[in-house]
Amino acid sequence: MNTIEKHDKYIMKSYGRLPLAVANGNGVNLTAEDGKKYIDFGSGIGTNSLGFCDDDWVKAVSEQLKTLQHNSNYYYNKPGADFAEKLCEITGYTNMFFSNSGAEANECAIKIARKYSFDKYGKGTGRQNIITLKGSFHGRTIATLSATGQEDFHNYFFPFLEGFIHVEPNNISDLNQKLDDSVCAVMLEYIQGEGGVCPLDIDFVNEVFKLCTMKDVLVIADEVQTGTGRTGKFLCGANYPKNGKKADITTLAKGLFGGLPGGVCMSGEKCAGVLTPGTHGSTYGGNPIVMAGGLVVLEKVSNPDFLDEVVKKGDYIREQLLQLDEIEKIDGLGLMLGITLKTKIAKDVMNAALEKGLLTLTAKEKLRLLPPLTIDYQSLDRGLSILAEVLQ
Ligand SMILES: *Cc1c(COP(=O)(O)O)cnc(C)c1O
Repeated sequence: MNTIEKHDKYIMKSYGRLPLAVANGNGVNLTAEDGKKYIDFGSGIGTNSLGFCDDDWVKAVSEQLKTLQHNSNYYYNKPGADFAEKLCEITGYTNMFFSNSGAEANECAIKIARKYSFDKYGKGTGRQNIITLKGSFHGRTIATLSATGQEDFHNYFFPFLEGFIHVEPNNISDLNQKLDDSVCAVMLEYIQGEGGVCPLDIDFVNEVFKLCTMKDVLVIADEVQTGTGRTGKFLCGANYPKNGKKADITTLAKGLFGGLPGGVCMSGEKCAGVLTPGTHGSTYGGNPIVMAGGLVVLEKVSNPDFLDEVVKKGDYIREQLLQLDEIEKIDGLGLMLGITLKTKIAKDVMNAALEKGLLTLTAKEKLRLLPPLTIDYQSLDRGLSILAEVLQ
């Protein structure tokens, strides 16, 4: 049996996979088991922020691997401490919890929001609901599925969790109506990723921050996809003025560790002490190998010149693609782009591009591009010319 047959035989079919068995990767280039070469405009759904097997990242990870692969959270280790210090320096947050994935980072945010309210306002006040937005995606656990504001995800696995109220994105009156005394937090993605690369309006985000500040309701920014430089700022929240305010809690995962599994739930002083010993945990959270890889990502991606380049490359892709007749519009920021096509179906384009050696993604009805942040212009041109060929 070859890899694909073996996979299909032994691994549960929870994914609709494309017929490509990946053998190895280097930078933006990928080689399949059959020797065919591909250019990667998806970076493992935004995880391989530095591309495949970046030299410095490989070095840091391999050295850590030879030093200490894991210790339990009963003890301390340096990679986690260094990573956390650097991430606080970059983002201005003061404290964090380490998880293994985006969904778990959001689970942590949900727990902090509810306990913050419980600690401050007491049991029985009913101040426990979390507003999330329609079209959002927050993960695959039961709690984060319940938070996810898409009906498609609310099937089969009943009962879902109580305590999530879904508001129409960019609809201030819907927000006003639903943000009552039962609410302890509002959770949002500045740009809804899985929901179709749909950015929130600045006015709506400002209103969320204004109302939440007035009512002592926490703002949780799910930056699992938009974070780590993806939009040309280290945090996408920096693209939104919000009267200088920052989300009380921000979650990160995907690109943060360069392709190793991890997530972070960060808070400022306000929520720094909410989680007390025994209230939350994760066996692998803060794993030193993951942290060593993440530190390299932080060092590279936090560089202002690197972030400017992300913006420029995003602008370049837009310029090139908007010359094609088939393209209606392009949403998103930096290297997180959602392309609306005039006549073609995004999934068909993704399949045709794969056939010609280019990996892309879709998000709802849009073609989605999340190339590695380190991509060079020559590779961009190669990928874009394949896309042009497919779209012509
Ligand atoms: C991918 C994603 C998640 C879930 O992350 P996992 O690591 O798959 O659990 C949560 N929120 C957003 C915005 C995402 O894009």
